[in-house]
Amino acid sequence: MIKHNRLSSEQYAENFSDIHPPYENSTAAKVDANRCLFCYDAPCMKSCPTSIDVPKFIKQIATENIKGSAKTIFSSNIMGAGCSKVCPVEKLCEGACVYNLLEEEPIPIAKLQRYSTEMAMKENWQLFQRKNSTGKKVAIVGAGPAGLSCAHVLSREGIDVTIYEKESKGGGLMTYGIAAYKVTPQFCEDEVNYITSIGGIEIKYNQELGNDISLAELKRNYDAVYLGIGVGVARQLEIPGEKLEGVVDAIEFIYDIRSKGYASVPVGDKVAVIGMGMTAIDAATQAKRLGAKEVTMLYRRTEAEMPCTKHELDIAMLDGCEVIWLAAPQKIKGSAGKVKQLVCSKMKLGEPDASGRRSPVDTGETFTLDVDMIIKAAGQTPYEKLIKKLNIQHSKFKITIENCATNIRGVFAGGDAVNGGKEVVDAVQAGKDGAAAILKFLKLC
Ligand SMILES: Cc1cc2nc3c(=O)[nH]c(=O)nc-3n(C[C@H](O)[C@H](O)[C@H](O)COP(=O)(O)OP(=O)(O)OC[C@H]3O[C@@H](n4cnc5c(N)ncnc54)[C@H](O)[C@@H]3O)c2cc1C
Repeated sequence: MIKHNRLSSEQYAENFSDIHPPYENSTAAKVDANRCLFCYDAPCMKSCPTSIDVPKFIKQIATENIKGSAKTIFSSNIMGAGCSKVCPVEKLCEGACVYNLLEEEPIPIAKLQRYSTEMAMKENWQLFQRKNSTGKKVAIVGAGPAGLSCAHVLSREGIDVTIYEKESKGGGLMTYGIAAYKVTPQFCEDEVNYITSIGGIEIKYNQELGNDISLAELKRNYDAVYLGIGVGVARQLEIPGEKLEGVVDAIEFIYDIRSKGYASVPVGDKVAVIGMGMTAIDAATQAKRLGAKEVTMLYRRTEAEMPCTKHELDIAMLDGCEVIWLAAPQKIKGSAGKVKQLVCSKMKLGEPDASGRRSPVDTGETFTLDVDMIIKAAGQTPYEKLIKKLNIQHSKFKITIENCATNIRGVFAGGDAVNGGKEVVDAVQAGKDGAAAILKFLKLC
């Protein structure tokens, strides 16, 4: 049965508490900082898409220069605080730490990064000063990581930025998508406020490009436009029974958890989650944490091809989620309009496809799962209608860019809207690259 309010408020609070608790005191942070070998070629820095100078900020923590450490991080990544909570560090900086080669625990880079950036936010340290006004104005669409990062760089250079955001809060998927046990909505709000506290950035909420505002208007009223609109809704399964009550979109499910509160979000007794990316993991673990009795994740390939990291999979397994590999949804059966069963095809691996991963091939055999809720998390599809309306060059509705510029003069783009959906840290870097391209376009560098 699908129902909400399954747990007590204490249970919800415990289930959704911070998965990576911070340091309890400065001594603990210093002890970890002093383990760093300060490698001359810093593989941790090379593996960070925003190139944070990791050895430098860790040295600054070791020498109790926390403000300097925060500035080092924010200079490369203005969402350094959020990234310290959500980055898949096991495949980035911490995965590259040389201690792994020595079969020792890597330096807890994310935890150290969190230590100084959270202190900066708490103390409201203003670490950057805007240059004198250039008199130029830039419009950014989307207050997600790409848009915010672009806005901060431009504001620092003396440009007045207006961000148009369709939702009532900033942060993009940081606020509306990422699991609550990684970042809370309150933290996301604080982070947006900290970023905009530099000045020169106005966010106009509930303003949707294509509805409330048009690209022509923005082009007319601003010197340049940056599109950081992200990717859209969850991909449809295109199988019979998809419209039955109990079939939900992972993004909407997570959005509700983040915006309505845990107790208000209904969840089934037996939940199937389709997909094995980060969205699928977040949907499965959160369904379990909302009180679902059984959560089964289905993936049409094997563990070797899954898009999520091993660490993410471990989180789901530790939460008690089951995984069925080599299984693809074939049809959903219901009764009285509600989901009752999910029929799946058994798959086997064939030749590698365009992604280089071995492709799933139907064996012709099937199996059936009794379920009362199905969460679709098999990827996202870009905003097809909007992209068509904007009349912008695209490839399968991912905006096409060259040096961050679209085919429309003065219009730039970046983040998930261009790469089709990567991670926050990639979107932050895309925002920085977009800002650099805009500065060049405006002949300000
Ligand atoms: C469920 C889920 C879990 C994830 N977990 C992680 C994780 O743990 N770690 C990680 O690093 N990454 C994670 N990601 C990926 C990460 O959230 C994104 O890569 C990142 O947020 C992309 O930033 P962006 O600014 O390009 O787009 P978004 O964050 O999507 O921001 C786009 C913004 O544009 C706004 N917008 C869209 N259309 C319009 C319009 N027409 N007019 C005005 N505004 C508009 C949106 O409301 C939004 O605020 C996850 C993604 C999902 C879906």
